[in-house]
Amino acid sequence: MTSNYRICLLAGDGIGPEIMAEARKVLDALALRYDVAFLYDEALIGGCAIDETGTALPGQTIACAQAADAVLLAAVGGPKWDTTDPAKPRPEQGLLGIRKQLGLYTNLRPVQVFDALADASTLKPQIVKGVDLLIVRELTGGLYFGKRERIFDEPGSGANGSSGQRAYDTMEYREYEIERIARQAFDAARNRRGRVCSVDKANVLEVSRLWREVVHRVHEADYADIELEDMLVDNAAMQLIRRPADFDVIVTENTFGDILSDEAAQLSGSLGMLASASLGDGTALYEPTHGSAPDIAGRGIANPLAQIMSVEMMLRYSFGMNEAADDIRRAIMAVLDEGWRTGDIANAETPAERVVGTSEMGDLVASRL
Ligand code: NAD
Repeated sequence: MTSNYRICLLAGDGIGPEIMAEARKVLDALALRYDVAFLYDEALIGGCAIDETGTALPGQTIACAQAADAVLLAAVGGPKWDTTDPAKPRPEQGLLGIRKQLGLYTNLRPVQVFDALADASTLKPQIVKGVDLLIVRELTGGLYFGKRERIFDEPGSGANGSSGQRAYDTMEYREYEIERIARQAFDAARNRRGRVCSVDKANVLEVSRLWREVVHRVHEADYADIELEDMLVDNAAMQLIRRPADFDVIVTENTFGDILSDEAAQLSGSLGMLASASLGDGTALYEPTHGSAPDIAGRGIANPLAQIMSVEMMLRYSFGMNEAADDIRRAIMAVLDEGWRTGDIANAETPAERVVGTSEMGDLVASRL
């Protein structure tokens, strides 16, 4: 019997619609092969939603996302909507809003360095070759959501004992928040190489000591088959560029994850190659990590591979279609091995490479499925 999956498509702004079209090509090709039906519901988010409805996240979009089996987002934003006026709507309110509405507390960011692109990184090819890691970042707790305050004019806080300002943010985690993210990491590791590195700062922070205790408790109770290692965040930052290929799954809290995932992204050398998934207890959301690239929008030269790899993640995590997800991965590798490149990943010194546009790249991947 044919399975039906309802996907809410949020193409957004800039290159969003161009790369979303390529993701659909890939989905349509897989539907034929796997006897599934993908039903698309398109909705507005970001700048285009502001233009049309006056808000970056219309109620209709929230309803569409909540009713779907998964949400596939491209990117939002652009100079047209840049404003510092707090009274005006901004495109990124759509992003934060949809994550909140869907209760997404886990961010998964895989970083894989394709052999064919090992020389695109700022690190030496022999260091990044074979990198295939997954960062599991907690998304709704910690410093970014804790109690904060700015105190103006406090005696003793200024220079030489005068009055001045003081500010604080607080890092807070509850056991259940740590437990659920730990489970996501262990589950992900089971589908990978079976290793989790939990990153904290337990030598200094009380929150990290609780983090470590809970992660180990969950591990001992339900995931003894997974190899678990603890690493202090300062060391993790160093090891990520020293021996990145040794990592499988890295799990960490919100702020550390924010920093480490950008550091890890640089291993692959190109923004156009990185996908991400945000998961909660209901509908999940998949998107490339890059923005709407207004500088190249409308020119047909954007790299659609991060968007296509977001589809790969959606198949894996929301639909359990691991075989189809592996097919996408293999198709991308084949296309890259054959030397096909979009401009952002092309290397002028490699004459064997053939530079193509957004639509040709999508066609090439779809044709290898
Ligand atoms: P960006 O990621 O859009 O672009 C940075 C650079 O990378 C640009 O030179 C761009 O051309 C290039 N680039 C990005 N994606 C590419 C792709 N797929 N193929 C080829 N080249 C690509 O970041 P930015 O320029 O800082 O931001 C532009 C807009 O995007 C801003 O309005 C920003 O707020 C928004 N933004 C949105 C998201 C999102 O939707 N999740 C994330 C980041 C930035």
